[in-house]
Amino acid sequence: MIKRVLVKFSGEALAGENGFGIDSSILKYIALELKSLVTLGVQVGIVIGGGNFVRGVSASESGLIKRTSGDHMGMLATVINGIAMQEALEYHGVDVRVQSALEIKEVCETYINRRAIRHLEKGRVVIFVAGTGNPFFTTDTAATLRAIEIESEMIIKATKVNGVYDKDPAKFSDAIMLKNISYEQALKDNIKVMDDTAIALAKDNSLPIVVCNMLLEGNLLKIIQKDENAVFSRVSN
Ligand code: UDP
Repeated sequence: MIKRVLVKFSGEALAGENGFGIDSSILKYIALELKSLVTLGVQVGIVIGGGNFVRGVSASESGLIKRTSGDHMGMLATVINGIAMQEALEYHGVDVRVQSALEIKEVCETYINRRAIRHLEKGRVVIFVAGTGNPFFTTDTAATLRAIEIESEMIIKATKVNGVYDKDPAKFSDAIMLKNISYEQALKDNIKVMDDTAIALAKDNSLPIVVCNMLLEGNLLKIIQKDENAVFSRVSN
C-alpha cells in the first residue's frame, strides 16, 4: 500500500455542473473519497486548483489586469477552495490543516515543510494552497513541487477522464488510453497530462504521475492499495 500521497484536484472539478464556484455535493464526495484513504492510515496531502473562480491568463486577457495580479487572484482562489475542503473533511471527522504559500495568518498556517510533514505523520490531511506563491506557475506545478517536498510516493492527478489518451477522448471516440507512458513521451507528444514545467519537475525527481478519474467511486483507494482493478495511467521513467 502507498503510505504517503499527494492528490491534485482542479478547481473546475469542484464546480460540478455549474462550471463556476463550489458544488457542495462534489465537495462532500471528494471529502469521503479522501476519508477512505485516511481511515486506512494513508498520509494525504492535497492541492486544489482555482480555475472554478479565476485563472491568471483569462483574468489578464482584456489587458485591464496585469498577468501578475491575475495570478495573485488565481492563487487566492485556491485558498477559497482549500478552506472549503477543510470544512468538508472536518465535517466528516477528518483532521486537517491548510498551509498557504502566501502568508494569510488569520486564515490558515503558512507553508512550512517540516510542519507539514509533522501533520501528515499525525494523520492529518494537509491542504496546500496559494500554489507555489509565485505568478506564472500553475497548481499542477505547485502540486508536483509539494509532492516532492513531502516525499510523496507519487502524485495523483484526479481528473474527469480515466487516464492519459493518445488524443482527446472528449473529441475522438477512437481515442486509446495509454496505461504507461514515459516522461519524455508526455513532454514530446504534447499530451496534456500536466504542463511541461510540472512534468519536467516530476521527471527530474523521478516522481511518478498517476492520472485517474475522480468520479470513479473507490478508485482512489484501489490505486493506493495497488488493486489490479484500479483504473489509471502512469507517467514514469
Ligand atoms: N497560480 C499562480 N501560481 C501558482 C499556482 C497558481 O499564479 O503557483 C494562479 C494562476 O493564475 C492559475 C490560478 O492560480 O491560473 C489557478 O490555478 P490553476 O489554473 O492551476 O487551477 P486549475 O486549472 O487546476 O483549476
